[in-house]
Amino acid sequence: LMGDDDVPRATVFAEMSALAARTGAVNLGQGFPDVDGPASVAQAAADAIAAGANQYPPGPGIPALRSAIAEHQASHYGLRWDPDREVLVTAGATEALAATVLALAGPGDEVLTLEPFYDSYAAVVALAGATHTTAPLVATAEGFRLDLDALAAAFTPRTRLVLVNTPHNPTGTVLTRDELAAIARLAVEHDALVVTDEVYEHLVLDGSGATHVPIATLPGMAERTLTISSAGKTFSFTGWKIGWVTGPEPLVTAVRTVKQFLTYVNGAPFQPAVAFALRDPDVAAWVVELAHSLSRRRDLLCAGLEDAGFTVVRPQGTYFVLADAAPLGYADGAALCRDLPGLAGVVGVPVTAFTHAGSDVDRALRSWVRFTFVKRDEVLTQAVAGLHRLH
Ligand code: PMP
Ligand code: GLN
Repeated sequence: LMGDDDVPRATVFAEMSALAARTGAVNLGQGFPDVDGPASVAQAAADAIAAGANQYPPGPGIPALRSAIAEHQASHYGLRWDPDREVLVTAGATEALAATVLALAGPGDEVLTLEPFYDSYAAVVALAGATHTTAPLVATAEGFRLDLDALAAAFTPRTRLVLVNTPHNPTGTVLTRDELAAIARLAVEHDALVVTDEVYEHLVLDGSGATHVPIATLPGMAERTLTISSAGKTFSFTGWKIGWVTGPEPLVTAVRTVKQFLTYVNGAPFQPAVAFALRDPDVAAWVVELAHSLSRRRDLLCAGLEDAGFTVVRPQGTYFVLADAAPLGYADGAALCRDLPGLAGVVGVPVTAFTHAGSDVDRALRSWVRFTFVKRDEVLTQAVAGLHRLH
């Protein structure tokens, strides 16, 4: 596992943030906001500490948070889960993903993800001793889209889990109902379970024409799907690491069994604060405003990248944009990312950090770089000015 081609020793985000710190370049690599979430939510965490929420919380998460998560799934999506048996609080979506894959897949099983894929997927599939297979997202006039024939071909009798991610990191694609229905149909046909990473569920951008559809809402899917999300992206508190899993009791129980030996419990004072955030109408309005403001910042960065000579695929969601450096004469995005601080005073992440070395997607996206736009306008403007120097 350590240091093989697909699972590097240090995450690409740690490496690129260190590069930004060392060079003083603008960090558009790791996706984290440079403005914190609502003060009322931060105050709720401070109040919880003052009130003594400082010892181990209950294993599955505090009841108030589990109820708030269940209410969120019911009111936004009509998904009804019992907060006592079908909701589990985790140390961010990262632990939810790890515990889920470790609980449900092992040697001999295939875990199918989209490609490119969020980096931790490859690592946890390797930790589980399972085999990682992928279905490509392909650049089209409608953005990165799922190749439905390749998706069907990627399923085998050994496909145990399908790990979906929408809105998708790193492409910014929001999967359509048709794409999700194709995944659902194949999962049922192959009797595979579905795990869906929806951490960007509230970050669908203006003008994208997209709506977030949880795959668990498709007919017959609730019973075979575990849905994962977290507070980090929705409320701009990425360091709090409060995530959750919802789904049918036997599956959630399996995940809890693993979670208890990974972290046992986590984030005592943050749990009541996130429960407050999920229920407070002013915070809900703040989240809607965040999506609007991100849409504006996406436009700013996309226009700047295009002016600088990149080809850009406009993202429909998340806070990332993929840009192709080939028109500027750079064939290798990883090499460009190492030089980018010197050339442009900017740090980005090579898209090959999200691919299997040597795959079709890896070759197709060799010259592509991921940039985040969850930064203040002046930071994005400075980055764009630097990127113009690449001409
Ligand atoms: N899944 C995706 C697609 C992500 O982009 C991230 C990180 N930003 C995570 C999971 C991890 O989320 P958390 O910080 O809640 O662990
Ligand atoms: N999810 C964030 C990103 O894709 C980073 C999280 C991390 O550093 N693991 O940039």
